[in-house]
Amino acid sequence: MSIEKLKNALSKEGLRYTKQRQDVWDELCSNDEHRDAEEIYLSLKKNGLKASRATVYRTIDVLVKNDLVRKLELGDGKARYENKIDSHHHDHMICVQCGKIEEFMDQTIENRQDKIVKKMGFKMIRHIHQLFVVCNKCQ
Ligand SMILES: [Zn+2]
Ligand SMILES: [Zn+2]
Repeated sequence: MSIEKLKNALSKEGLRYTKQRQDVWDELCSNDEHRDAEEIYLSLKKNGLKASRATVYRTIDVLVKNDLVRKLELGDGKARYENKIDSHHHDHMICVQCGKIEEFMDQTIENRQDKIVKKMGFKMIRHIHQLFVVCNKCQ
């Protein structure tokens, strides 16, 4: 993604563009997993990068707010994050035992949701669809 999008997002929030914030963004883009902020912070640290915990958390918030990163609330009080670059809409399946997250996309479900909303005379803005499962390894 162009640096411009990151710069725009930061300036909208009154934040300066810095190497540390670029590192946070690069870290999110280099990885397709669904990680919490602490894992992202620790991964940066492991790679020898010096962003502080506060910078990491704050930058992630800004990226979420500007629609560059998706925030997943799984009901366990620990949000997970994934970049939205080149990522088409998908929903998630979460194993309640090991926490593994699988992505899925089912056009029939998507169409059905749209239909239901339209029938009510409403306009769909977004949806969150999460299935809580026991994965094959945990069964
Ligand atoms: Zn599992
Ligand atoms: Zn995902």
